Amino acid sequence: MSIKDNLEKIKKSIAHSNCLLIAVSKTKPNEVLLEAYEAGIRDFGENKVQELTAKAEELPKDIRWHMIGHLQRNKVKYIAPFVYLIHSVDSLKLLQEIDKQAEKVNRKIKVLLQVYIAKEESKFGLDESEILEAIQNGDIANCKHVEIMGLMGMATNTDNEATIRAEFKSLKNFAESLKEKSLPDNMRIEEISMGMSGDYLLAIEEGSTMVRVGSAIFGARNYQ
Ligand SMILES: *Cc1c(COP(=O)(O)O)cnc(C)c1O
Repeated sequence: MSIKDNLEKIKKSIAHSNCLLIAVSKTKPNEVLLEAYEAGIRDFGENKVQELTAKAEELPKDIRWHMIGHLQRNKVKYIAPFVYLIHSVDSLKLLQEIDKQAEKVNRKIKVLLQVYIAKEESKFGLDESEILEAIQNGDIANCKHVEIMGLMGMATNTDNEATIRAEFKSLKNFAESLKEKSLPDNMRIEEISMGMSGDYLLAIEEGSTMVRVGSAIFGARNYQ
C-alpha cells in the first residue's frame, strides 16, 4: 500500500471523531514526508530536534511541526522560533526553559504536559501530583510565554488491550478532573494527545483528540 492509500484508510477510520491526525515522520526522508503532504497532511511529528529543524528548513512553510519526543533543555532554543506544539513536556524545568526561549523569540509556545501513565519504568512524564502542585504553587502561572493546551500520554508497549485502555482512561479521567479546577490563565485542557499506530482507534474511543501515527502511514522504521 502507498502512503496515500494508508492515509486514506486511516482518515476514514477516524472520520467519525474530531481527532487530529499527526503523521509521525521520524527517520523518514523529506521526499516521503512530501508524499504525505501531497495527500493533505499538514501536521507532522518528530522526536529529535536536529531532524525536526532540518526538515522544517527544507519542507513547505505551512507545515505544523509537533515535537513529540523527550526534549533536552539545551535544545529548546532551536525549535522555539517555529514549533507548533510541544507534546512532551515531562518536567517543570523543561516548561520553564520553553517559557524562557519563547520570551526571547517573542512568541507564546503551545505545549502539552506529558503525564506518566504506563507501567513501564522507562517512560518519561510528570506525575499527576506534580502537575497539581505546579498549578497550586504558581509555577505554571509564572510561565507566561507558554500556553498549556492539554495532556499527552504514552501507553505501555504491550498487546494487552485492557492495559492500554485502562491507561488511556486514566489520562482522560485526569484531564476531566483538571477541567473542574480553577486553572491558571495560561492553562486549558482542550487536547489529549494519545494513541499511536497500534492503538489509535482505542485511544479515540477513550477520548483522544490527537493521534500520533507513524508506521501505519509510512511503514516500519529501521531505527527508533
Ligand atoms: C514514534 C512515536 C509515535 C508513533 O509510533 P508508531 O507506532 O510508529 O505509530 C508516537 N508517539 C511518539 C512519542 C513516538 O515517539
